[in-house]
Amino acid sequence: MIRTHSCGELDRKHVGERVTLAGWVHRRRDHGGLVFIDLRDRQGLVQVVFNPELSSEGHEVATKLRHEYVVKVSGEVARRPPGTENPKLATGEIEVIAEHVEILNPSKPPPFYINEDVEVDENLRLRYRYLDLRRQRMQQNIILRHRVVKFMRDFLDARGFIEIETPILIKSTPEGARDYLVPSRVHPGKFYALPQSPQQLKQLLMVAGFEKYFQVARCFRDEDLRADRQPEFTQLDLEMSFVEEEDILNLTEELFTSLVEEVKPTMCIPKPFTRLSYQDAMERYGTDKPDLRYGLEIHDLSDIAAGTDFAVFRSALEHGGRVKGICAPGLAHYSRRQLEELGEFVKLRGAKGLVALPIAGDETKSVAAKFLSPGQIDQIAMRFRAGDGDLLLIVAGERKVMEALGALRQEIARRLELTDPNLLAFCWILNFPLLEWSEEGRWQPMHHPFTAPKDEDIPLLDSAPEKVRAKHYDIVCNGCELSSGSIRIHNRELQEKIFKLLGYSDEEIRARFGHLLEAFEYGAPPHGGIAPGIDRLVMILAGEQTIREVIPFPKNQSAMDVMFDSPSEVSEEQLKELHLKLRLD
Ligand code: ASP
Repeated sequence: MIRTHSCGELDRKHVGERVTLAGWVHRRRDHGGLVFIDLRDRQGLVQVVFNPELSSEGHEVATKLRHEYVVKVSGEVARRPPGTENPKLATGEIEVIAEHVEILNPSKPPPFYINEDVEVDENLRLRYRYLDLRRQRMQQNIILRHRVVKFMRDFLDARGFIEIETPILIKSTPEGARDYLVPSRVHPGKFYALPQSPQQLKQLLMVAGFEKYFQVARCFRDEDLRADRQPEFTQLDLEMSFVEEEDILNLTEELFTSLVEEVKPTMCIPKPFTRLSYQDAMERYGTDKPDLRYGLEIHDLSDIAAGTDFAVFRSALEHGGRVKGICAPGLAHYSRRQLEELGEFVKLRGAKGLVALPIAGDETKSVAAKFLSPGQIDQIAMRFRAGDGDLLLIVAGERKVMEALGALRQEIARRLELTDPNLLAFCWILNFPLLEWSEEGRWQPMHHPFTAPKDEDIPLLDSAPEKVRAKHYDIVCNGCELSSGSIRIHNRELQEKIFKLLGYSDEEIRARFGHLLEAFEYGAPPHGGIAPGIDRLVMILAGEQTIREVIPFPKNQSAMDVMFDSPSEVSEEQLKELHLKLRLD
């Protein structure tokens, strides 16, 4: 080994020892005569002192050192002189008095600071990701990710799960996104698809009798570049045989709680996890991924609104809509401009407008107040249990509009700083509908086509598909959907029936899913699973705002790898080998 110790491990115990360290120059300070270097390796920083009187040759090299030079230093560990200790640094009580230093490799000045956590343009960071990853915050994130994955592996191994790899070159398995395709050279005109998830494979592993499977699985989805998505991301994919919904919920809940207690013991994770039906989540939070770190629940005012003369309310109700709102505590003082801003916020999300009702003594300054009697205003305020100084924000319209109210709820929580970063409010969303009517005018699965309907709802598949509930569960944390999962169909007839309901022709069913249907005829056990997203989970645990901060080499927001410059053109020859011609029209 080039070194005897790592920088970060040194402390009082080592005083008097001769050590050899290797690492990067984090900082250099010249103090007339003495040169101080903060030397950094993965474990931390240590101060190295170069004194010309002890080693003139060492001191001379030290004056040439610059940020990020890689050096090897030998010297003796000494206590820092009293008054110069640095309590902020783990090694702050000691320093290394250098006797010898060797430059192992110089460095150009880095394009951004490695030694400070400052805002840097993201594309620049991604272009030099190997330098970005040297920053302490990123090192911590990646190490946290390692610990999370290691914990998951150990947890599942201890419970009899087997880690099994599944292929990346496969065939389309639908999760509702577009596939990434890989052309075949040996089979002209044919393509592999990268898996959107190992969904069918893990089900086939259940048919194969493994009973408990997991995999740290890479998934590929060619989705529109909205929100915080990556073309490839990682799931803890798992599947079990002979289980019901409750078994998967319990296992996952135990996994998450023990994981957090182990890797982030300072975070608070209320147990048991809240359970909400899909219907309830939509009614009370305007979303199926509610952030439950705070209340700000949505209340329905339709009955009160029906008794008013307010045209906005009445027309929404006449068109089958509802009148609902939230109470923003203490925001009655909001100015007209601030209210307009909130109005714009909901309009951008599909609402026609926002009715703001400040509760401020007798003086309710609101357009709506003209159309509401004092009694009605009192009734509304009661519904919210609103008090003096609160602001009621009301929206009228159909279901979509309530999603705007859900978004407004989040916005108000943000403004009021109700989103405690140390709280992990997990919740299960249950009783999803099996199907939803798509914009293209057909049924599509809420989860994926392999999800089983609730047994008692199966008869409704023919008469009222919209009423069929699924054995589908989502797990949400702090407003972020971490995972979907379900108990699967394991019976050929039922699976075929669902495919047909979804509009697949017999021929398509045979070509796309023939293998699965056939497998179901050879004794497929009842089974189900889930696949928590590892990137999102680590993002939340690390307190980061995007998954790009916890993925070592992510694509940027235009799905490009700006370090490799990928995707990139390929040669004419390569295209020819793959039997492809470009049509860039
Ligand atoms: N394959 C599913 C998904 O990626 C998860 C599951 O149903 O287990 O959402």
